[in-house]
Amino acid sequence: MNSLVVAKFGGTSVANYQAMQRCANIVNQNTSTRLVVVSASAGVTNALVALSKGALSEQEQQAQLDGIREIQSNILAELASPKKVLKQIDDLLAQLSEIAMSDNLDTNPLLKDELLSFGERMSSVIFAQVLNELGIKAECFDAREVMKTDNRFSQAQPDLVQVKSHVEASLVKKLSETVIVTQGFIGSDDESNTTTLGRGGSDFSAAILAEALAASELHIWTDVSGIFTTDPRITSNARAIPEISFDEAAEMAIFGAKILHPATLIPAIRSGTRVFVGSSREPEKGGTWVLKSPENRPAYRAIALRREQTLLTLKSPNMLLASGFLANVFAVLARHKVSVDLITTSEISVALTIDNPSNSNTKVLSQGLLDELAEMCQVRVEDKLALVAVIGNRLQETHGVSANILSCVEQHNLRMICHGASQHNFCFLIEESLAGSVITRLHKVLFEQQS
Ligand code: ASP
Ligand code: MG
Repeated sequence: MNSLVVAKFGGTSVANYQAMQRCANIVNQNTSTRLVVVSASAGVTNALVALSKGALSEQEQQAQLDGIREIQSNILAELASPKKVLKQIDDLLAQLSEIAMSDNLDTNPLLKDELLSFGERMSSVIFAQVLNELGIKAECFDAREVMKTDNRFSQAQPDLVQVKSHVEASLVKKLSETVIVTQGFIGSDDESNTTTLGRGGSDFSAAILAEALAASELHIWTDVSGIFTTDPRITSNARAIPEISFDEAAEMAIFGAKILHPATLIPAIRSGTRVFVGSSREPEKGGTWVLKSPENRPAYRAIALRREQTLLTLKSPNMLLASGFLANVFAVLARHKVSVDLITTSEISVALTIDNPSNSNTKVLSQGLLDELAEMCQVRVEDKLALVAVIGNRLQETHGVSANILSCVEQHNLRMICHGASQHNFCFLIEESLAGSVITRLHKVLFEQQS
């Protein structure tokens, strides 16, 4: 372990020139920061996703492309020496337009991922120039040279062994000479096709690179000053948490705190990298440290919300006293690469929740999957649900946890309750439209009344 810091700046942190300058100052203030991972400027990936669906009219296509060009041009216009990167950005925009116009885009996952990669490829070139103009020696580096992944386009998984060996071969030496700016979110498969790691994947990229480099710290700069007791947009009484354990943060990320990509902590936990989350807009406000062993471990730490949940209920009399039914169900889900979050079962049915984000590039529950399940059991799909999770410590041993939590939802119908698997989590599924008011109430009872 060395004192190397990997800093990741999210889409809003590199949304425009002023935002990029604030990030450059952050890099400047910590000489241990050698590797910088950037997202696409805010709005760009959404436009690319819209283009990648291939269903737009020519006019709509052009409008999306113009929108992307405008975001980049506005930043270039404020650079002291835009000429140094103008040609590169123009070339990237030209390639992007060409791919966006190709006929087979909607049926070609390879091409889609290539298209989705342009946001990060442009923001990284520009950000390296912003650093240079601030007097910091910096170079842009193509992440695809080191971020080797499988070929599950749009959801690619990095291969850590390969990433490590490529990082050692082509990145480590460079880092001793200059700050390196690279792209989050993108990688490449064995055949050098561009892949992407899934929406919000830049955090994960940064964490994988931090692990591969045995970095001591990973700094995630976003637009909020750390992890809060709950989303401050839901209740203004939410407050920042100074330190949180990996276990708690992992539960929070998985249960919807949008601050960290859920997979981010896996490499950090493996490698023991300390993770800091702060706001690039207000770095002086501090943020949250995610650590292996934080000093205090209160029963209630935070309330997380995950919207856009789908509940899949499978019912079959064959389940009664039979063995192997669930194994078959999960084999089908695994074959379709569906990731299940929560599970409850009764004697003859099983209910599962599945994350179904509307901005995703692929439909999670395909007709093929539903047909296969329907051959085994009755299938029911319910949407517009939200998961509310209370995160903390020793929840199984603390008196009154269930009563405290359930007293806040006595007016409502819960679709599912999950507690028992983890000491750090108690969660339930509720109609999405009720989630905000339920969380406000929970926050009062769990956090405001005691203090
Ligand atoms: N630009 C990608 C996205 O918006 C990846 C990221 O920002 O983490 O999903
Ligand atoms: Mg992001």
